[in-house]
Amino acid sequence: MISSILTRSTRPGREVLFGQPWLRLAALVFLLLPILAACGFSSNDSGGQISWTQGTRPAEGIAPPANADTTQPTVAATDVSGATDPPAEPAPTEGAVEEATLAPTEVPTTAPIQPTQPVVTGEILSPEQLQQYQPNELGVVPVFMYHNIVQEYGPGEEGDVLFRTEAEFRDDLQFLYDNNFYIITYREYIENRITAPAGKHPAVLVFDDSRPNQFYYNIAEDGSVTIDPHSAIGILEDFFSTHPDFGHTAMFGVIEIWCFDFEAPDQTEYCQQKLQWLVDNGYEVANHTKDHQDLSNVTTEIFMEKVGGTTLWLQEQSGQESATGAVVLPYGLFPDTDINPEALDQWRMVRNGFDYDGQHIQLISLLAAGAEPAPSPNSINFDPMSIARIGAKDEPSEGEGNLFLDYWFSQFLARPDLLYTSDGNPDTITVPAELPGEQVGLLDTEKIESEGKQLIEY
Ligand SMILES: [Zn+2]
Repeated sequence: MISSILTRSTRPGREVLFGQPWLRLAALVFLLLPILAACGFSSNDSGGQISWTQGTRPAEGIAPPANADTTQPTVAATDVSGATDPPAEPAPTEGAVEEATLAPTEVPTTAPIQPTQPVVTGEILSPEQLQQYQPNELGVVPVFMYHNIVQEYGPGEEGDVLFRTEAEFRDDLQFLYDNNFYIITYREYIENRITAPAGKHPAVLVFDDSRPNQFYYNIAEDGSVTIDPHSAIGILEDFFSTHPDFGHTAMFGVIEIWCFDFEAPDQTEYCQQKLQWLVDNGYEVANHTKDHQDLSNVTTEIFMEKVGGTTLWLQEQSGQESATGAVVLPYGLFPDTDINPEALDQWRMVRNGFDYDGQHIQLISLLAAGAEPAPSPNSINFDPMSIARIGAKDEPSEGEGNLFLDYWFSQFLARPDLLYTSDGNPDTITVPAELPGEQVGLLDTEKIESEGKQLIEY
């Protein structure tokens, strides 16, 4: 039920003072995209090249969500050569062991790991708490895109969005922690049941391509395995355990044929164990297709095999049905109705579900590869089938827009009012009566009402 009606007022002068940078950036991105796409970057080749293209929005008439904004496509940049780019710096492979046994996995952290229960009040905030926490559940939610986590850059890797050093990654986490972010699951973002504590800014971490340096087992002589503390999951476990009020999760976009074992064959046998470990320890696994298939122009048969088949495989391997409905699009490319006559069918399947191999598959989200914070699930701009992400590198390379961490982190510092700030209660949607100018008119009151949530303005 809607308990109060939002007054869509603006603060006079606010736009003049604060309103421009993000909008200008968005405009710049849109202007740059065709240019960049025409600059000879190709998304279909290998070698870590990146092409930025505007995402193809779902075509009309295929059940777009209510109030979907069809005039402003999400900037869907592309990535990301997953399958064929240069191998990541291999994690240390010591002591290849014959007949490794599946000994219990130990996480190399000093503190016991207690998956943190978010501090969710479940209550309506008092006027004093509202002033203290300043919730704005119409703000944007950054979804960060990582690939390889390396100790040092190899040749050509610096400045490539596919590579981030451990030190840089730890700095990213520290920045987010220091600036009041809280890591949530992708699914709670998509399903609008965000459990970040009151006053925190929810954020999502996503790792693409299931590289060994994201989840690497050190294998002992006796065959027991431990998580490499320098692989992404080792770093995350260490950081989360020492920052228990930061959330405790991340999502991994898994390629079926390279399940944390690309050019690391000693890791192959642990695929299922790792997927199970992730799910058992509060992480999410998502579908990055069977073999990093570019989905922009494939037959529906291939689409079903590469998306549907891998969805079923992930469910079977991890036992998790939830996050496997999220598809991390290889290269950030959507089925493209401009070039593929079967793309419309595929969009219907994305929206409405489809049957494959005797089972019904219902996707919950498609993730693009760029290049801005994603909308609040309470915004009319929110479309779960087109979620933007922020690529994890600092400076743009020549010819790229300013779309990466340095820029967005600076924006978060300059404009925290544009971020989603939680009220700590998933059942209420709290927004300031005087919204930032950029957010005026974006509140999806119909959706909030249909989800049975209480709208609170203050
Ligand atoms: Zn990829």
